[in-house]
Amino acid sequence: MSFWQSNYIKDVITTLDSMEKNDERDMGRRDFLKRFGVGAASAVSLMLLDPFKSVASSIGSPVRYAGEDDGATSDVRMTYRLQNGSGHPVSLLGFGMMRLPREQADVDRLVDYAIAHGVNYFDTAPMYGGGRNEAVTGRSLSRYPREKYMVATKMSNMSPATWPFEKSKEMYENSFRQLQVDYIDYYLLHSIGGGGMDALRNRFLDNGILDFLLKEREAGRIRHLGFSYHGDVSVFDYLLDNNDKYHWDFVQIQMNYLDWRHAGRGRRRGGDADAEYLYDRLEKLGIQCVIMEPIRGGGLANVAENINEQLRKVRPDDSPARWGFRWVGSHANVLTVLSGMNRMDHVMENIATFSPLEACTASENELLARIADQMAGFPTIGCTTCAYCMPCPYGVDIPGNFAFYNSAVTKGLLPLPETTAPDYAERQQAYVAAYREAVAEVSRANRCQDCGECLSKCPQQIRIPNQMSRLVELTRKKRV
Ligand code: SF4
Ligand code: SF4
Repeated sequence: MSFWQSNYIKDVITTLDSMEKNDERDMGRRDFLKRFGVGAASAVSLMLLDPFKSVASSIGSPVRYAGEDDGATSDVRMTYRLQNGSGHPVSLLGFGMMRLPREQADVDRLVDYAIAHGVNYFDTAPMYGGGRNEAVTGRSLSRYPREKYMVATKMSNMSPATWPFEKSKEMYENSFRQLQVDYIDYYLLHSIGGGGMDALRNRFLDNGILDFLLKEREAGRIRHLGFSYHGDVSVFDYLLDNNDKYHWDFVQIQMNYLDWRHAGRGRRRGGDADAEYLYDRLEKLGIQCVIMEPIRGGGLANVAENINEQLRKVRPDDSPARWGFRWVGSHANVLTVLSGMNRMDHVMENIATFSPLEACTASENELLARIADQMAGFPTIGCTTCAYCMPCPYGVDIPGNFAFYNSAVTKGLLPLPETTAPDYAERQQAYVAAYREAVAEVSRANRCQDCGECLSKCPQQIRIPNQMSRLVELTRKKRV
């Protein structure tokens, strides 16, 4: 057994051990096993059955690449989860390649550091980065032996609403060329749920492309087949109700401590179901979850000061983002947690959080549940700044406007509703000044013409034009 392999085994078991200790300290054993322990136990059993075969065949021997520090590969402490069935170890931190630096060299630098520290799951899609991210990802990863990384990509056949078989197949085949691979580790039907069952039929069922993808999995060109979900939960339920036919290997869901029980806030009817429902359904079916938006587009990394204080009291050195990641990673049926990383300090902090993951205790879970209830009372807009809604034909910077507003809410800078407060006029003026500084005139909310073009593109089901009117109202001084 190599030093690296022994370290790897130790880290999986150390992580599981620390979860067991948390159990003894804070939770009833039955509750613990229900929420965390069953997956953990099965991971241990798999490792004991044939630990070195799965490790060696999936990861390969350590390679030293130019990274940010020396000796990284001899100190890999990443927590891994084992893929059901194949038993392949997947790093609990997955690299979301949605927003990447412009220069290939900068992307390579992030990827090098991540791989050197044990990250082996990379998630992209044909529509990311204006269509360039698959190619950038492919150039970066193809510098490594193929067994060193796993790549996830998607069928992003969203717009126009109807895609014939040939066009969808072309998108699929192009992914192989862009990624420079002859098999795809994780392939997803991208963002099912938006547009309800009609969209599912148009995009995947009636044109026969899902049947084709199932055959591609049989042929080994797709190693694991799944879907990502946002929107109408009846589509999520339909695909799981038919699991005997599709045999989903994994499902990607939005999950964080706020969306666990408060996913529907501020969304249109038919918005996402609570993450608790999605996770529980998948867990019962034995389908592992890939998690997106673990810190809700950064919203849980920039929390209000009073919330930060509550967190700091328990763990003075931890950032709010670390809390969010730890909470998600503590769930045993989570295969990997995607973080969209485009800065080295984020990559380094996230790797530290997952190397190894320190599972949340029951009392920490309770604190986060209380904090989520407090946050649900805030009038924030559930925008994750994904920019799927862009460009707006009238120039509105939709995510920029929402990001400004959300930060004003969490920092307590909103001038409303206390129009009778003695400092109302002063607060209102400060709010408008800050808004003008943050958002260019040509991109402000008052440019919205209510054309509705952005509505169907938003995976968070936000009523964008209505929210723009709300933002405009806030910049108008009320009579006191
Ligand atoms: S509804 Fe408003 S924000 Fe949305 S695309 Fe139209 S003008 Fe832009
Ligand atoms: S409004 Fe919706 S689509 Fe646009 S950036 Fe926010 S979450 Fe993404």
